[in-house]
Amino acid sequence: MHMPRITSKIFTDQFLWMVTLGLVVGFIFPPFMILLGVPESNVMTPLFYTASLMAGFFMGIMNFGLVHFVVRPHLKELADRMKLIKETVNDKTYQESDAHCMGDSCFIEAVSDDEFGDSARAFNEMVQALQSAHEVEYVYTNFSKALSSNLELDGLAKDALHLLIEHTMCSAGGLYVEYEGEMKMVYAQGIVDSEQLAQHAYIHQAMDDSRIERITLPENIQVDGLLTRFRPQEVVIVPILFKQRNLGVFVLASPVHIDEPSLSMINMFRQGMGLALNNAIAHESLQRLAALDGLTNIYNRRFGLKRLKEEFKRTQRNDSPLGVLMIDIDHFKKINDTYGHLLGDKAIVLVTKTILGTLREGDVLARYGGEEFLVILPGASEQNCWNTAERIRRLVEDSRLKINDQEIQFTVSLGYVSFPQNQVGDEMEMLHHADQALYQAKESGRNKVVPYSDLIDEPNSQSA
Ligand code: GH3
Ligand code: MG
Ligand code: MG
Repeated sequence: MHMPRITSKIFTDQFLWMVTLGLVVGFIFPPFMILLGVPESNVMTPLFYTASLMAGFFMGIMNFGLVHFVVRPHLKELADRMKLIKETVNDKTYQESDAHCMGDSCFIEAVSDDEFGDSARAFNEMVQALQSAHEVEYVYTNFSKALSSNLELDGLAKDALHLLIEHTMCSAGGLYVEYEGEMKMVYAQGIVDSEQLAQHAYIHQAMDDSRIERITLPENIQVDGLLTRFRPQEVVIVPILFKQRNLGVFVLASPVHIDEPSLSMINMFRQGMGLALNNAIAHESLQRLAALDGLTNIYNRRFGLKRLKEEFKRTQRNDSPLGVLMIDIDHFKKINDTYGHLLGDKAIVLVTKTILGTLREGDVLARYGGEEFLVILPGASEQNCWNTAERIRRLVEDSRLKINDQEIQFTVSLGYVSFPQNQVGDEMEMLHHADQALYQAKESGRNKVVPYSDLIDEPNSQSA
């Protein structure tokens, strides 16, 4: 129930009501005394009446004083804290540290079991909710920045995971992306054997269901702790969707049970990640398309030269050997002319496959021209280059192209240069030397391997 309002201030109203009540009590006190049997002549005197009214009036003032000292401070504290919070929200740019005003400066001690205590508790809860909202906003801003500034898949995965680990209870994790029908790890932090995890049944399950999977004490998943490896208490697998299409998953491991705030943070990350991941994947496949040759699916000339430059730089940094092979199909024009261009293409593809079969991990193959190939062999000695080149030459010589029950045999010529046996200034000089060796192989009868060293030994036979 509300008493009718008199002024704009509740405490002034309270004062007026109390003084009025005091005066009313003072006014009815003398008749009340008569009812109790006090003689009227003693009571109904101006002096007694005045004294009674004065007593009521002072009682009213004293009551108001009590209200002023008992109730008002609590309301004032509540109002002061609210003002403080308002300033925190308004005046400061959202920094995580500002969002957290801890202890006395923001919270009120709930001193009583009544509406005042209730107000204090409700106020504290509101402050807490405000702080969480600020934290979410702060994290979201950071996360959006990371998402929008990373077009490269690696950088995106790294930034997103660092933020996830920083702002949730999870201490390790990885990003796995579906790539040509297979799950591949893009980036992982703190997960033991993170690459193998890509084949884990949990991940496939999450991909199939497009649902977040929570696994308690998972088998086969271990986390690198500070001193030991341990099995996480909980792992969540979070599918990342873009337009209902599942692009990949976050795997996040926590040493303790993952709580609701962490889960909602993960969910928020997941929402934004879909678009960013889709863009990064599209960007990467465009990059790949730009680097690949359409017929053979190996690097094109431009990209092959780029890789050669990188490998040459690495060779100089690490003081390691490097081999460069140039390969050219012999009398290819005749194959084209006799059997048609389509069969010519088949020969190019067959040579590609043959070369790929002889290469080791880290070697690079590029289609340098029509029926010319560039092979980069990082770490290969002169002998390694010779062996690889000879092997390719023999394998091509032994292979057959089939057309209408007819078997066609063809050969390749190879020239190579080996660093540091042959000193060169830059990668283009290496390429030029390999080309000179190839020219020599053609000149001296084809279906041959010629090392650049042979040209230096017999300078007369060198032709540019
Ligand atoms: P050599 O033994 O001296 O290398 O003789 P060659 O006939 O191979 O000589 P050359 O390198 O001049 O001939 C290359 C031919 O390869 C010319 C061109 O018509 C053909 N060619 C280039 N690109 C392609 C291709 O993508 N497909 C097919 N089928 N032929 C191509
Ligand atoms: Mg040729
Ligand atoms: Mg050629």
